[in-house]
Amino acid sequence: MQDCLFCKIVNHEIPAEVLYEDDLVMVFKDIVPQAPVHFLVVPKKHISTIMDAEQNDSALLGHLLFQAQKIAKEQGCEEKGARFVINCKTDGGQTVNHLHLHVLGKRMLYWPPG
Ligand code: 5GP
Ligand code: ZN
Repeated sequence: MQDCLFCKIVNHEIPAEVLYEDDLVMVFKDIVPQAPVHFLVVPKKHISTIMDAEQNDSALLGHLLFQAQKIAKEQGCEEKGARFVINCKTDGGQTVNHLHLHVLGKRMLYWPPG
């Protein structure tokens, strides 16, 4: 989609520190990391928010979550765990309107988020 930041990263028009890429998803480091490990997993297909995902996106969403788990393990988060987060729209604090899963690890995080 034109004028979408993460579509531009997916299309290599804007640089990012890419950790993994396949036909369906791209994984790259967050530009303002909130933890020693902080990366984003995005579908290459433009989906604005998790509320916009459809039934036929189910396999894509499953793949996205499983790749997040794999990269989290590669980044050394298997033993102590990590936070897997999808912010959605205004109340969820979403600032980039292209669906993305945050993975934050290597520091203790607390709940509720405040
Ligand atoms: P949201 O608030 O939408 O859940 O998360 C958007 C995330 O994208 C933020 O954590 C922000 O730091 C990250 N971000 C914004 N612009 C860029 C960028 O140009 N490159 C990368 N790698 N991350 C970005
Ligand atoms: Zn997009």
